[in-house]
Order: sequence, then structure tokens, then C-alpha cells
Amino acid sequence: MLSVKSCNDILKEAPYLDDAGRELIKRAYLFAEKAHTTHTRYSGEPYFVHPAQVGFSLAHVGMDAHTIAAGLLHDTIEDADVTPSDMAKEFGPEVLDLVEGVTKLGSLRYQGLERHAESLRKLFAATAKDIRVLIVKLMDRLHNAQTLAHVPEQKRKRIALETLDIYAPIADRLGMSVVKSELEDAAFPYALPEQYKRVRDLLKERGSETEQRLEKTEKGLKRALAQTGIRDFRTESRKKGFYSLFRKLERKEWDITKIHDIIALRVIVHTIAECYTVLGIVHGEWRPVPGKIKDYIAFPKPNGYQSIHTTIYTGDGGTLEIQVRSEAMHREAQFGIAAHFSYKEATGHHGKAVGKGIDWVRQLMPEVGMDTKAPKSARDMSAPQWVKELAEVREISSDSEEYLEDIKTDFFTHRVFVFTPKGDVIDLPIAATPIDFAYAIHSDIGNHIAGAKVNAKMVSLDTELHNGDIVEIITKKSSRPNKKWLDMAKTTMAKKHIRTALIQQR
Ligand code: MN
Repeated sequence: MLSVKSCNDILKEAPYLDDAGRELIKRAYLFAEKAHTTHTRYSGEPYFVHPAQVGFSLAHVGMDAHTIAAGLLHDTIEDADVTPSDMAKEFGPEVLDLVEGVTKLGSLRYQGLERHAESLRKLFAATAKDIRVLIVKLMDRLHNAQTLAHVPEQKRKRIALETLDIYAPIADRLGMSVVKSELEDAAFPYALPEQYKRVRDLLKERGSETEQRLEKTEKGLKRALAQTGIRDFRTESRKKGFYSLFRKLERKEWDITKIHDIIALRVIVHTIAECYTVLGIVHGEWRPVPGKIKDYIAFPKPNGYQSIHTTIYTGDGGTLEIQVRSEAMHREAQFGIAAHFSYKEATGHHGKAVGKGIDWVRQLMPEVGMDTKAPKSARDMSAPQWVKELAEVREISSDSEEYLEDIKTDFFTHRVFVFTPKGDVIDLPIAATPIDFAYAIHSDIGNHIAGAKVNAKMVSLDTELHNGDIVEIITKKSSRPNKKWLDMAKTTMAKKHIRTALIQQR
């Protein structure tokens, strides 16, 4: 963890910002530093170390200036007696909304299961307005988790468990895998100390052997790629996080020899075509382990993750996982939803993701200065439907535990979020098609589908939609639903409308 020493450290992370944005951040930095002068952290350090670090992390993942400013200011209302009206005067309504959202989340405490479910709902209720609030909160929690060593013991365990149970799954759902594993590994030793030690000891026994294997394979691979004419690539190693290794060990009866991805070798290239070329070269050089090839480029994970994974026999009796991806996929895999806010790519040489990024930005950022008292429908596009569903008031019966499981399994893994060309978000089940999308917008559009475009390309109506796709439905007055559509539709709503239309046609 790099410690922030000046505002420049933050600005350096965000070269994509314009002058106004940089100015806003500088003012927020000085304002917060001054507001917190009399406070200290548990560690004895000046309190401002914390918000400065949060601002830095937000810049690092590529957030916009308002969000970075809100990160710097996020504790000033609660802990430094700054009033909301002062903040609005100094930094405008957008920053105030973000800070108030984060403050609201901060008042939630993890206290056993009943409260836990309740808190989760509030968490999402507060977030439904603006997903950036959640990203600030994740970075806030990340720094708090990374400094747990200084926190009093009883409090420490609660924060650690809460981090594992609530924050890490949210980071995962937003595709922010780096943040997810940093959260997990900061909290794991305090949340589950016995299990942590067991994992650490197991790993000690196997550590050096795997490192050597990695080095040897990396050399061989670089040579093989160079010989085939692929020169513009980079490699890096990825160590599986302790907590994620723990979860896997639990599934494999604690047999570490059954885990093949403790360390993985990553190859990062520029185009999708190069990804497949690299896979071919890898398999030409080493024998792949059967059944271990996963093409997440053709079939992305629900949170949008893309890469090719394969495991090879390294020739010394061991195996090694190799992951191949493009730069754009790499960025997305690390920072997920935050990568879509990023203006970094706009100035980079991989301009392809820019269009998509802007659409997400438009989607996820409410208009600056928009009247928050405007009719709800006018601002309703600021969060995916699943977030709003969580926020809806719902009776807690005796099955809080079940509710919690629902949240973990259903909402976090079984939905895809796609967009209309205007940027409205439509929330659909996994494997949904343009037909589901059309009926989700309006039954009239569904009933007259003539074709569909996904990301500006014509596709067939049974095409599976993925997170972030922009879907456009082409309608014709003369088009009518047919029986085949029933098989292509995944939502009950679409099926119902198609059935009704088929009956009427007869
Ligand atoms: Mn904080």
C-alpha cells in the first residue's frame, strides 16, 4: 500500500482529469486536511491519512473528479462537524450527495444475522441512487481493513467478518477483483484466525517449488512467443489470495495437490485474435491438462470477466495455470465497473473500449445538479434494477438467513445488466436474449421484433446477452411472434406475452 504524502500523489494517478477536475480535488484535499487536523487514527497517525488514501484508491481505479473529491471528504460531515450546506456551498450538490450517501452507509453496523440482512438492504437502498457511493464505500472499507492491526480487538473481528460477508461480495459483483481480494486478504487473518494459519502453513510447504516452476515456464513461454513473432506482450504472475485459496481448499477436502492455480502466469496481449494465437503456442509447447481449458472470452463470467484459462503440465511433474487476455480485458478484470468510469483509456492507445465506457458513465452517473426532488422515474436510471429490488421494503420473516443466501447467490451471480442505446439499464436473468430485452422495454416492441443489434452489430434473436451489452431492437409493424420465440425467451414476462400473441393470431 503506497502512502499518500501530498495531493500530487493523487493527481498523478488521474492524468485523465481536466483542469476543473484537478482544481476540485486540490480544494477537497486542503479542506479535508484542515477539517481533520484535531483527529487521529487508532494507529496514532493524523486522521487525514485515511481519507487521503481513499481518494488515492479512487484515482487509481480511474474514477471521476467528483468521486475522488467525495472520497477525500467522506468523513468530514460525520467526524469533523462540517454541515451539508457548507459542503454544498464549497463543492456543489453532486459531491454533497456522494458524501451523504457514504455517510449513511457508515452508520450501518454488522450485528448478527438479523441486523445483517437489514443492513444489507439499507446499504443498497442508499446506493440505489448512485453506484459511485458504493465504490467510495468499498475503498473506505479497504483502507480500514488494511489497518485493522491497530483497531481494538472486539471491534476488529466485527469489521473483518463484515468485510468478508458484505463488502468483498459486492466488490466481486461489480467485477472489481483486485479490490475484492485485497478486502478478503486484509480481513481473513482477523475474521478466521485458525483457518488463516492453516492456509499459511500449507502454503509454506509448497511455496518455493511453485515459484521456480513459474519462472522456468515464463522464460520458455517468452522464447516461444518471440519465435512465432508475437513481440508486443507482457507477462505477470498472479498469486491466489489466501482467502480465495482457503475457500477452494474447503471445497477440495484440504488437499492442496488438487489446486492448480495457486500461482498463475498471465500473458497480456492487445487483440482477441492474439489471445487465441497465444493459446495455440502454449498448447504447442506444453501438454494441456484435459478439461482445464476455459474460454471466458467467448463465454464471459456473469460479472463480465474475460480471459482464456488453461492448465499445462510443466514437464517437471507439476502443473501451472496460464491466463491469456487483452489489455482491455485485463483492466476490466481488475477494476470491473470502475473501469467503465475511466477516462484513462480515452488517451491510451487501445481506444476500442471508449465508446462502451462512455455509455456506462452516462448510465451510472446522474446528471450534475439534477433536482433530487424530481419525479422518481426521471432519475430511476441511476442504478441497476437488482440494486433497487434489494432496496425495496420487504418483510423480514423468520427466514433472514434465507434472504441473505438469496442475496449472495441470486442477486450477485444470476443477473446480467444490458443497456438501451439511450443508456437505460435493463436487468435480465443470465442467458437472456434480445427477445427478453424487447419485452422488458414494452410488449409492443416485443410483439413486433424484426431484428436486433448488440453493440451495433446485427445478431440473431437467440443471441445470449452479456453484461454491458448495448442492445437495439428493430421493429416492423408486420412482424409477429412465432413459436420459436418461446424457446429463445428466458423471462416469464416475455413467454407470457408471446403465448398471448400466438393465441390471438389463431
Ligand atoms: Mn472512512
